[in-house]
Amino acid sequence: MSRFDQIYRKVALTIAGNSAVERLLSEQGKGLAGRFVAGDTPAQAIEAIHKLARSGILHNMDLLGEFVSDPASANANADAVLQMLNEMHAAGIRPYNSIKLSALGQGQQVNGHDLGESNARRIVARAKEFGGFINLDMEDHTRVDITLATFRRLAEEFGHAHVGTVLQSYLYRSEEDLRSLEDLRPNLRIVKGAYLEPATVAMQNKPDIDAAYRRLVYEHLKAGHYCNVATHDHHIIYDVMHFALAYGIPKSQFEFQMLYGVREDFQKELAAQGYTVRSYIPYGTEWYGYYSRRIAERPQNVMFVLRGLL
Ligand SMILES: Cc1cc2nc3c(=O)[nH]c(=O)nc-3n(C[C@H](O)[C@H](O)[C@H](O)COP(=O)(O)OP(=O)(O)OC[C@H]3O[C@@H](n4cnc5c(N)ncnc54)[C@H](O)[C@@H]3O)c2cc1C
Repeated sequence: MSRFDQIYRKVALTIAGNSAVERLLSEQGKGLAGRFVAGDTPAQAIEAIHKLARSGILHNMDLLGEFVSDPASANANADAVLQMLNEMHAAGIRPYNSIKLSALGQGQQVNGHDLGESNARRIVARAKEFGGFINLDMEDHTRVDITLATFRRLAEEFGHAHVGTVLQSYLYRSEEDLRSLEDLRPNLRIVKGAYLEPATVAMQNKPDIDAAYRRLVYEHLKAGHYCNVATHDHHIIYDVMHFALAYGIPKSQFEFQMLYGVREDFQKELAAQGYTVRSYIPYGTEWYGYYSRRIAERPQNVMFVLRGLL
């Protein structure tokens, strides 16, 4: 990340966190997020699954929304995910969905249990019933401990074939976390990290974050576990391909994951080469948080906002 990119990312995430900006964009910006969001409804999201499948690309569905503070909203979000699982199953699609525990009540105690975990348990149980898979997305660093603890309990209960989670290479702690999960033989997604984090917990320079990213992926693959290589960075993607060849790691032990609407031609190219490629497909109406992180990642994405506003 150049100095400009670092400053840009920090400014963009800070502006996005301002409630007046959020109000303005949420009210006036409907439709701007269209490039990165498959639609408001499960039916539109299922349409996107079919479209990508025609290019050999798999799906990873994400109902937009995060950080709810009341149990009723958390339960409603969980019900909406369950509804989506039912609709996917009815459409003959194996569920593969991502959930954010902050949207499901993480940190709220109900009947002596963490509501986020109770809701996640309902969702993973339903996905398992349909032969599907649920990924617990990783959010800001204050939630890593509780998310990994929930992941451990769910993985022990339902098995690593039905639930996975994420490690972020920008966090100093992630290599240690990888080792602490080893006994679960976990299915892990490795990402660089999308949140504005302080230098006390997270690396701030792209070369350091990229080097840590490679270390996490290589260590996980060498240990023989399934790895979701979630990045748009072709340097890393090509390095992972070479690493796999050099160490005799089969294509069936990893996949490439990218975001819906980002580098679509590259996604198709990788799929055509016989790699498993999965698109992370957000749907729903709560697009603001997701969209502002995409803006922060890449200055060119601002153009989509400006064009939309004009
Ligand atoms: C499937 C998936 C799931 C994710 N889940 C999480 C999560 O749970 N928690 C979390 O914190 N973060 C998550 N992220 C976001 C992630 O942490 C990064 O913020 C995001 O992926 C951007 O980093 P990057 O790895 O693509 O590399 P960057 O360093 O941002 O980009 C590297 C290079 O990729 C290329 N590139 C990137 N974007 C484009 C583009 N639009 N067009 C053309 N080239 C491009 C450019 O060459 C660029 O230099 C997820 C990302 C993906 C892909």
